[in-house]
Amino acid sequence: MEYKTVTVEKKRFGIARIISLFIGIFTMLAAVLLFITIIGILPGLGLSFLSLPFFAVALGGARYECPNCGFNKNFVTTGKVNDSCRRCKQNIAVDWIQPHKKKRANVPH
Ligand SMILES: [Zn+2]
Repeated sequence: MEYKTVTVEKKRFGIARIISLFIGIFTMLAAVLLFITIIGILPGLGLSFLSLPFFAVALGGARYECPNCGFNKNFVTTGKVNDSCRRCKQNIAVDWIQPHKKKRANVPH
């Protein structure tokens, strides 16, 4: 399948990401404590999965709209250069731009 390109803006490191990182670490610690108790292994496993989105937010990323089907809830973490659409599995090349730069209308391809 052919690659399509989306342009996304890099996010600055904000307070929301710091809070997410703390929640992620806290949730992961709680999961580890549950693992230690043996009977808490299953809820611990659930908790560690729960903490993953917080780490993803802390890492930063961007939402983008799929150029193929228009699905706009795709999420890509910072630095990842390729992804696929969660709905149509379109392969997508991610083009990261700095936050201060504005998207220009007439960029030659
Ligand atoms: Zn799509």
